[in-house]
Amino acid sequence: MPTLFKDLASFYDELEAVSSHLKLREILVRFFKRLSASEVKITAYLTLGTIGPHYEKTELGIAEKMAIRAVCSACDVSKEKATKLLKQQGDLGGVAESLGGRGKNQLTIQQVYHTFLAVRDASGGGSQDKKIQLLTGILKSASPAEAKYIIRIALGKLRLGVADKSLLDAFAIAFTGSIDNKEMIEDSYNVCTDIGGLGEALAKKGIKATRQFDIALGRPVQSMLAQRVNEVPEILEKIPGEIAAEEKYDGERMQIHKDGARLIAFSRRLENISAQYPEIIEAARKSIKAKTTVLDGEVVAVKNGKIMPFQLLMQRRRKYNIEEYRVKIPTVIFLFDILYLNGESLLKRSYPERKKLLASTIRDSERVKLAGGVTSARIDVIQAFFEKSVKRGLEGIIAKSTGPESLYKPGKRGWAWIKWKKEYAQGMRETFDLAVVGSYAGKGSRKGRFGALLCAAYNKQNAQFETFTKVGSGFTEKDFVQLKKALHPLEARTKPKLVRIEKTMLPDTYYEPGLVIEVLGAEITDSPNHAAAKDVLKTGLALRFPRFIRIRKDKGPTDATTVKEIIALHKKKYKKPAR
Ligand code: AMP
Repeated sequence: MPTLFKDLASFYDELEAVSSHLKLREILVRFFKRLSASEVKITAYLTLGTIGPHYEKTELGIAEKMAIRAVCSACDVSKEKATKLLKQQGDLGGVAESLGGRGKNQLTIQQVYHTFLAVRDASGGGSQDKKIQLLTGILKSASPAEAKYIIRIALGKLRLGVADKSLLDAFAIAFTGSIDNKEMIEDSYNVCTDIGGLGEALAKKGIKATRQFDIALGRPVQSMLAQRVNEVPEILEKIPGEIAAEEKYDGERMQIHKDGARLIAFSRRLENISAQYPEIIEAARKSIKAKTTVLDGEVVAVKNGKIMPFQLLMQRRRKYNIEEYRVKIPTVIFLFDILYLNGESLLKRSYPERKKLLASTIRDSERVKLAGGVTSARIDVIQAFFEKSVKRGLEGIIAKSTGPESLYKPGKRGWAWIKWKKEYAQGMRETFDLAVVGSYAGKGSRKGRFGALLCAAYNKQNAQFETFTKVGSGFTEKDFVQLKKALHPLEARTKPKLVRIEKTMLPDTYYEPGLVIEVLGAEITDSPNHAAAKDVLKTGLALRFPRFIRIRKDKGPTDATTVKEIIALHKKKYKKPAR
C-alpha cells in the first residue's frame, strides 16, 4: 500500500512539536522504517524541504504571489481575504490550512511529489499559469493539514529543523540497525551527495549499500577541506616528509565534470554553476585533453594578469547580465586536483600520483592553469614560498601531504591539507565563517537598519548552530543593502530549531541558518551569553571584538567554522595568558 500524504503531514506535525535532538531522531526512525525504498527517497528530499539532490534543479519557480493565487482558487476565497490572513499569520501554509482544503485524505506521497516535479518542469510561455494550475489542482485534493505542508514545500519554507545529518543518523538506525554505522554512511554521503538515493539504497540493501558509491560523472563529491595550524613549524609535525606547498587562491571552489562534450561546473555547495561561468566552461573544453574527467580547483577574478579580490568575483554569481559581467570581471581557474579520469576513480590514489595525472590531462591556457607550488621537506623553503605567494597578493598557501595516505577524502577536513594564511602570520587575528541566525534593531544613526548580527558556529556533532558572537562593526553602506537582501528570505517567525541561543542574547529578528559571513576576531573568551561549546565545556565560548569582513555566498551554513575548530583554537592561542 502506498503511503498517504496525510501520514507524512502528521509526521511533520510531530517533528514540529519536538525540540530534543534524540526525540526528533526517534520520530524520523519510526516513520522511515514503514516506507518502501522509493518512498524513502522522496521523503528524504521532502523532509529537508526540497525535491531532489543539491546538484539538480530543485527550484519550483513558485513565488509567494503565485502560491496565493493557487490557494485562492483552490479554497474559493478572494485575494484580499487571503492577503489579509497572510499579513496576520505570516505563513501562507498556515493560511491554506485555516481556509480549509476539501480533500479526502487520499493523496499519496508519490502523487504530491510528482506534482512538484511537474511544477518544476513547466517552462516556456505560460509556464507561470501552468505552475499555478498544477498547484491549485493538488490543493483541491488536499485536506487542511496537507495543504499547509504542500504550500510550505512549494515555497521552500518547510523548515522542520531536520538537518541532512539528522536524516543520516536516522538511516543508520532504521536501515542498518545501529548508530555505530553513522560514519560509514556519512562517508558515502560525502561521495554520492544524494541523500534520497543513499536512503533508498540503504533501505534496500542495508549497510552493504555504502560500498556501491564512488565518484560518478555529473554527480559532484563534497570538496576535501583543509585544517589550520597556529605556526608554520606545526605543519611539519602534522605532515612528516615532503610537503607540496601550493598557492592558496582567494576565490570560489569549482569542481568541473567533463563527460565527452558535456561540461558541468559545480560549486562547493554542489550547485550547478556552469551558466554563471561560460568562459571557464569554454576554456576547459579546449584545455582538457581527456574524454572524461573530474577536476578540482579555485576560480578567481583576474584583470590585466592580476588576481582581483573575492568580492569582485562574487559579482559573477548572478542570474542576469552574464555576458556583460564576463567582460567586466573575467575569471581564471587554478586547478589543483583530479578525482576521475577516463572511466576510473582516482579518490584512492595518492596526491603525487593524482598531480602527475592532472598535469598530463591539462593544457595550460589563458583561463585554465595549474596551481603554482613547490615541494620540499624543509620548512625554510615552505616559509619562503609562503612569503613569495603573499607578496604576489595571494591569501597564503595550502600545504599538502605527499605520503601514501594522501588520498582524496571528500568532505573531510583532515591533516593531509593545511592552510596557512597571511592573517595568521600577521599576528593574533583569525577569521571565522559564521552563519547569521539573528539581528538586533539599530538605534540612533542605525535606525531602520540592524545594529548587529547574531552569528553562530556549526556543531557537527549535534547538527546545530550555536551562537558565538554579535557583530556590530565593519559594515559599509553597500554591505547593509546586500545583507538586508540576502537575509530577508531567511527571516523566521520563531527561533529556528537548529539554532541554540542563550536567553540573554535573544535577537529582534531570527533567521534560518542560510547566510554565511566572514568575521575577523581578536580573542576567544569564556562567556555565559553564548551557546558555542556549552555542551562540551562548562561555559560557552565567544569571539571578542568581531568585525564583519564579507558575505560568503560560496559557503553554506554547514560550511561554517565548527565548534570543534573553535575549541581547538581556544585551547591554544586565542586565550588570555594565565596570570
Ligand atoms: P578556507 O575556505 O579558508 O577553509 O580554505 C580552504 C579553501 O581554499 C578550499 O576550500 C579552496 O576553496 C581554497 N583553495 C585555494 N587554493 C587552494 C589550493 N591550492 N588547494 C586547495 N584548496 C585551495
